[in-house]
Amino acid sequence: MPKLRLHNTLSQRLEVFEPQRPPVVGFYTCGPTVYNYAHLGNLRAYVFADFLKRTLLYNGYEVKHIMNITDVGHLTDDADAGEDKMEVGAEREGKSAWEIADFYIKTFKGDLRALNIIPPTKYCRATEYIKEQIELAQILEEKGYLYRISDGLYFDTSLVPHYNKLSHLPLEKLKEGARIEKNPEKRHPTDFAVWKFSPLGQKRQMEWDSPWGKGFPGWHLECATMSLKLLAGHLDIHTGGVDHINVHHTNEIAQAEAATGQTFFHYWLHNAFLNIAGGKKMAKSGANFLTLQAAVIDKGWLPLAYRYACLEVHYRKPMEYSQAGLAAADKALRWLYREIATLGQVVGQVSPLFKEKFLEAINDDLNSPRALAVLFKVLNSQLSNKDKLATIKDFDEVLGLDLSGGSQHYLEMLTNIPPEVQALFNKRQTARENHNFQLADELRRQLASAGYGVEDEPGGSRLVPLF
Ligand SMILES: [Zn+2]
Repeated sequence: MPKLRLHNTLSQRLEVFEPQRPPVVGFYTCGPTVYNYAHLGNLRAYVFADFLKRTLLYNGYEVKHIMNITDVGHLTDDADAGEDKMEVGAEREGKSAWEIADFYIKTFKGDLRALNIIPPTKYCRATEYIKEQIELAQILEEKGYLYRISDGLYFDTSLVPHYNKLSHLPLEKLKEGARIEKNPEKRHPTDFAVWKFSPLGQKRQMEWDSPWGKGFPGWHLECATMSLKLLAGHLDIHTGGVDHINVHHTNEIAQAEAATGQTFFHYWLHNAFLNIAGGKKMAKSGANFLTLQAAVIDKGWLPLAYRYACLEVHYRKPMEYSQAGLAAADKALRWLYREIATLGQVVGQVSPLFKEKFLEAINDDLNSPRALAVLFKVLNSQLSNKDKLATIKDFDEVLGLDLSGGSQHYLEMLTNIPPEVQALFNKRQTARENHNFQLADELRRQLASAGYGVEDEPGGSRLVPLF
């Protein structure tokens, strides 16, 4: 069996994956900050993490998957400046920060369901781990890593020997990114807040008592704390978008390794951005903000078409968003459902030859485009229909395109034509026989809005699900 090789941001190369305590794999994914809808760029990170998780499961591992939900402490500027995104969201919508969190957690989970993403073993909310975050900060304080300035307790990054080991950037570059002018009290530009104080004379919606005063935890403390707490002994893989490398993940590592004196996660995997035409990164503000609902579902495309579009691009390559691209992905997926529907219902044997090729693709740093190509090869192969079906079902454990469900749905539409659709169709037949083509066209439009098309052939017309 080909070994699973993954690109590790820490070493900047492909490595054979070895969990610390097989068959269990501990896996942490940086989750959403729940102050707004997730956009397609955010969702790409979760499709990638899901593909990785399914690949691990397919390789026989047991996956313990933790995903955090940031419901406090993520500031509008990732480097500890600006306002808390949750409080900004609350003000925008005239609700409490807690209501905002609940609402956007619900929509986020709905997006993951629509994309057939397996839920994590556990979701953890930052606000549910305040005590543990304070405890970790206390350890860091005892070890001398923290200092106090007027707006909070900060981590002294100069005390960490290999602060840039994840980013591989010269410290000068990291400093530029940290923009010290926003907080001249910091000792070093890359220092970051571990605990922020509530502003004097101002009551925050989310604040807690701590040994240092009322306030809230810094964003990077949250993921370090929850990883150490929930994945002890299984700190294998940590994932996120490439935008997390230089600040968020770098600071998670700095805190966790300073506190424990041990290596934090062994494998760090990062997905590239989804870009709008012209190479601009999709962001949560402005015209570039596209949700799954608005950009895919409302256009009449299957939500899984977005998953398909993501799988067409390797996770480390930037993905280009376009409506035409999504329309093509939707068409390709519907074609797959129709083709698979013609294979019948009998499930045979998984082809060992194609399984090997499929494994080679996914185990080569999650090469999803090649995995899709193997799927198409199976469809065009000399295998019997029942063996094709078995092989395709097997691959879909990793692809997650709901190939069985989708083709079943197509078959149901084909065989259980609703009476009102049949009646429209009959009416159209009569209109055509009477050469009333205007009415026939109008009826075709009505059929289309009911989800059916008409194919006119020399031998007669027939109804087909628009799928
Ligand atoms: Zn995180």
